[in-house]
Amino acid sequence: MSLRTGFYFNPIYLQHNTGNHPENAGRLQFLVEAMEKNPALADLLRVEAGKAELAQVSSIHDTDYIASVEQACEQGLPYLGTMDCQISEKTYEVALHATGAVLEAAMKIADQQLDNAFCAVRPPGHHAEIDEAMGFCYFNNVAVAAEFLVREYGYQRILIFDFDVHHGNGTQHTFEERPDVFFSSIHQDPRTCYPGTGFHSEKGRGDGIGTTLNCPMPPFSGDDEYLQAFSSTLLPRFEAYRPDFIILSAGFDAHRDDPLAQENLTVRGFNHMLEGIKQLAYRHAGGRILSVLEGGYDYEALAHSIQSHLEILLEDPQ
Ligand SMILES: [Zn+2]
Repeated sequence: MSLRTGFYFNPIYLQHNTGNHPENAGRLQFLVEAMEKNPALADLLRVEAGKAELAQVSSIHDTDYIASVEQACEQGLPYLGTMDCQISEKTYEVALHATGAVLEAAMKIADQQLDNAFCAVRPPGHHAEIDEAMGFCYFNNVAVAAEFLVREYGYQRILIFDFDVHHGNGTQHTFEERPDVFFSSIHQDPRTCYPGTGFHSEKGRGDGIGTTLNCPMPPFSGDDEYLQAFSSTLLPRFEAYRPDFIILSAGFDAHRDDPLAQENLTVRGFNHMLEGIKQLAYRHAGGRILSVLEGGYDYEALAHSIQSHLEILLEDPQ
């Protein structure tokens, strides 16, 4: 028996048109075509979700900022803020749909209609700050979902684990003063990699001191180095926190074939971390894992990594 694993994808995500930018529609197009030929994923519960409501997005983002994203798209501007953040006519609508899928998946898991879920969404979200688009990200999908789970369901210890090769600055800054959301990121050393934050010394502020945990990795680290850091530095802290819900900012750009960074992970390394997270989820969080796509820019490496991730999510732990 497989678990009830939701797979959230909506073809509208392909309409955030970025041309030859590394974060382009081809990433998801290649993935869904590869998945059609994979019988191991037949049991996934496939969902096309609608868009988030403004009130939900504005639980994290500044309303003026949200309006500025909408206006920039309407006016046909080529990018928002920096040239990293290309936009097209539909970007605002697509970004609302991406956040909407993550919210719906969070709700279905909290309501026990799903055991876990993976959201194959774009644009990604973890660099988006409260009032600023950054690093291909407009709305912070995982941050909106975590806030929703706290407000609507009363979760008190949400763990967000971000294994994208880039530091999840937006998510960290959103929750760094709060003990009810533990943000942890493993990423390439910020002295060598975008966005230049995520040092080990960033441990939270005020009431949130101790619930931010950064694990920068030297460039060219492989599976062994990552797994050593994951099991000796990260897992014991997650275990001590006893999360009641786990959200993954699942970026696969630490893969050795990825063109944007210099880490050397293989699918084995990603799988090993997910297996550790899954065991943690069953010890403390009733198995609840909401996994949300962030980066990953080599089509084949991304499709292979995600399919393997989905197979592990589907596995019944009994
Ligand atoms: Zn990334």
